[in-house]
Formats: sequence, C-alpha cells, structure tokens
Amino acid sequence: MVPGASGIVDGHLVSTSPATGEEVARFPVAAPADVAAAVERARAAGLWWEQLGYAERKRRLLRFRSLMTQRMGDLAALMVAEGGKPRIDATMEIFVTVEHIAWAAKHARKVLGPRRVGGSLLQPEYAGRLEYRPYGVVGVIGPWNYPLFTPMGSIAYALAAGNAVVFKPSEYTPAVGQWYVDLFQEVVPEHPVLQIVHGLGDVGATLCRSGVDKLAFTGSTATGKKVMAACAESLTPVLVECGGKDALLVDADADVRAAADAALWGAMTNAGQSCVGIERVYVHEKVYDQFLQVLVADAEKLSYGEDPTKDIGPITMPGQRETIRRHIDAALADGGRALLGGPDSVRGPVARPTILVDVPESNPAVCEETFGPTMTVAKVKSMDEAVAKANAVPYGLGGAVFSKRHGVALARQLRAGMVAVNSTFAFAVLPALPFGGVGQSGFGRIHGQDGLREFARASSIAKRRLPSVVPLLTYRHTEKSVALGERIVRLMHGRSR
Ligand code: NDP
Repeated sequence: MVPGASGIVDGHLVSTSPATGEEVARFPVAAPADVAAAVERARAAGLWWEQLGYAERKRRLLRFRSLMTQRMGDLAALMVAEGGKPRIDATMEIFVTVEHIAWAAKHARKVLGPRRVGGSLLQPEYAGRLEYRPYGVVGVIGPWNYPLFTPMGSIAYALAAGNAVVFKPSEYTPAVGQWYVDLFQEVVPEHPVLQIVHGLGDVGATLCRSGVDKLAFTGSTATGKKVMAACAESLTPVLVECGGKDALLVDADADVRAAADAALWGAMTNAGQSCVGIERVYVHEKVYDQFLQVLVADAEKLSYGEDPTKDIGPITMPGQRETIRRHIDAALADGGRALLGGPDSVRGPVARPTILVDVPESNPAVCEETFGPTMTVAKVKSMDEAVAKANAVPYGLGGAVFSKRHGVALARQLRAGMVAVNSTFAFAVLPALPFGGVGQSGFGRIHGQDGLREFARASSIAKRRLPSVVPLLTYRHTEKSVALGERIVRLMHGRSR
C-alpha cells in the first residue's frame, strides 16, 4: 500500500505507517449488524453508567486519565507509528487530552447536576428544578489528525455526562482508538460503556442511522453535511465540528518576534494537519518586512522527514498530499511567490515548510483548507482590512491576533468560534473554554460547560409548593383573581423605562 494508506483486506481494516508503509494494525470491519448490536449493548450499558452517579463516574474517568498518563509512552509510540506524527506532537496531544478528561470528570456534577432555578413573582407557588440528563447512547465519529485529542473532546464529555458511547475512528488511525477504548474497559469492565466499531466511511454512515440518541462528528465539512443528512432521517441531534482556514492577525504594535514564532508553530505543528492550524497571516504594513524576516529565518531551521524526531513529519493521508501540492501550484501560477518551499515542496509522504506571499485572496491557497505545512502571508494597510480579509472565507473555526493594545477588540471582530490573543491554539488547552466553529466549520461545542451540556438534555420539573394567589393554570379562576393578576403584571412589566 501507499505509505499511510488504509484499506480493507480479507474483511479487515488495515492501517499503515505514513512514514514506512508498514502495516500497523488490522481490525475486523463492523458489518451493519455489528454496529446495531453495539448500539443495543450500549443502551443497557448507558442505563447502568447513568445510575452509577456522578461521583463514581468521576472516579472511573480520573482513573482512566491516570492510566493514560502512566502509559503515555506506549500511546505516543502508537500515534507516531500510525499517524506519522513527530514524537513531540504526539506527546503534547496526550498532555492536553488528559487535562480535558480530568476537567470533564471533575465538573460534570456541578454543570449538569440537579439545581433549583428562580421562581416567578406572578407565580410564587411553583418551584423550578433543572437537571441535565444524558441522552443515552452517543455515536462519535472522529478524524485522524488528532486521533486522541479530537474524539476525546466528545467521548470524555459524553461519558462524564452519563452516556454510553459507540466510537467510529478514522480508517487511518483505528489502532489509536482501539488503544484507549481497551484502556477504558480496564477501568469500566462491568459493561460496554465505551465501544468501538471499525471500517470506512460507510460504517460511519451506518452509525448515523443506528438509532444513537446523539451523533458527534468531527471531520471535513463535506462529510459533516452527509452526516447531518443521514441523521436528519431520524431527527437524531448532531454536533458537527468541521474544517477551518484560520487566520493570524499581526497589528502594528505587536511583539513581532512572538507573532512570527506563533504563526510558524500554528501553521507547521502536526505538519499543518490541524483544524485550527494557522493557514493565513495578515500583517500590518508597518511590521510586515520585519515579520517576514523573522518568520522565514525561523522556518528555515525546521527539520522535516519521516523520522519522528523531526519537527515536521509525513502527511498522514495520502490524498492530502495532492491537495497541498495543488494549492502551492495554484498560488504560484496566480502571481504568488514562495519565500520558502515551492513547487517541489511535497516529496513522497513529506511536505516541507512552505511560506507563500503575494497570493490573491481568491486563490485556493487562501480560501480553501490546505491541511499541510504551508501558510500565506499578506500585507495589510489597516487592521480593519485584516479583519475583513480574515472573515472573507466561509469557514469560522479559530484564529489568532497579535496586538499590544487591541488584542481582545480585534478578537471580537473575527467571525470565529475561538480566538487566541498574543498566542495561538490557546483556547484548545484551556479545558473550561468551549471549542467549536461557525459557518462551514460547523456548530455545537465540545469542551467546557457547553461541551458537557452538549451531551445532555435539559430536564425541567416545576413543582407546586403553595396554593395559587393568581390561579392561571386552571378554570377555577375568578374575576377578582384575574384583576389581581392584571395589577401585578402591570406593576412588573407595564412601566416604560
Ligand atoms: P473526513 O470527513 O474525511 O472523515 C471524518 C470521519 O468521518 C472519519 O472517521 C470517516 O471515516 C468518517 N466518514 C466518512 N464518510 C462518512 C459518511 N458518509 N458518514 C459518516 N461518517 C463518514 O475527515 P478527515 O478524517 O480527513 O479529517 C480531517 C478534517 O477534520 C479536516 O477538515 C479538519 O479540519 C477536520 N477537523 C476538525 C476539527 C474540529 O474540531 N473542528 C478537529 C480535527 C479535524 P473514514 O476515515 O473511514 O473515511
């Protein structure tokens, strides 16, 4: 097979190393009946898991987090072998993931547990009680680029909320998924609360139609639309986390060295295969030349190759290599210049760091997701121009702003779900911050309180505690009680302010 390719051999899904082409793992492909059976088992397991309660679920999830931390060397090695990631990228992915598992476990009760909600002056006889109950069975479909961090943003939060999960990993990274599903079964051996089904996209499509109570999808926008359409057939609610074309803005008063460092890392980490990777940079004309000088000098020092000690590893998915090549070629054909890299940037499974300037805004390198170690840098006359250009793509996932005085103000103008100020990716490492996009980047949120609520439904209970002064919800009202009600309502709401 082509290095990094996956495929079905004798009814098994086979994953290979993007660096060497060697087989990494093979798993039986789940037939539709297997997916249905997994969801059926999950239904019973979910009831058990919900009844276990917040405290015990927290204990199990924290144990899961601890075991993952203790065995992070094994997990990182597998992520390197199957995804081609540099070792350091794999290790950092584990650091951030265990933080999220712990946060979800520790906060679930506070965010979702039963609480009293305020009453009404007109109807003081009723007490409101709110809690968030699990959906039951959540289907999770994940991508390959962050095969641990990304699915776990749904899985850990769904489990903490009391759901059972059936997970379909990317065909390119099934072994990584199987690793942590097996690990979870060590801490929850009683019932199949977290299960995995392997296969290609059709297995994901089957999961969408399998009767799961909610489907959390992370992947490309094109597949996200198919997932929504499949889930619409049964009105299954969906969470859709899709691609992006994130921009980094550099203001005239920015710390240019820090901005160049962040832009480089944000664009090149994980070989540029990050949904919130920096793909476009807009720099104020006053600091443009200085920014480019630092950026290119730093980028020239990056190492790349199949070896996991390099800064930039191979491109995981063979088909993506062609997209990267196409975008670089399109940029150069359209008047763009490569300050680093060029037409031969993609060699075998590896793409070398590529910095493009003078690329028209309509070019695919500027407006389509490239998903490789490339970036475009453009000079702007003002930050208004930078914001307008950053917002001119249909995606709206993340972004970054460098400015000493106007960072937050600029961040608020970006049409994106998340923005880092004087940094990049920072929103992903703060577990309390919701993660998700707008527009073609999808909707719904993982992480934080919103991420927990995403996997639970509000359950509202209104309980009578006193007889009614103004009986509204009965035929037993009188003219006097209605008149009293009118006086109260006029007093409360009738005055113009
Ligand atoms: P894909 O959309 O190709 O695949 C995502 C998942 O969906 C895979 O498990 C895939 O299975 C499965 N799938 C494919 N077809 C269907 C179908 N018809 N029905 C249901 N499931 C299906 O994305 P990639 O794996 O290539 O991931 C890269 C994309 O993910 C990028 O666009 C990136 O920006 C985005 N992403 C978004 C993130 C976010 O949080 N917003 C985070 C990380 C990545 P199979 O692999 O077997 O085809």
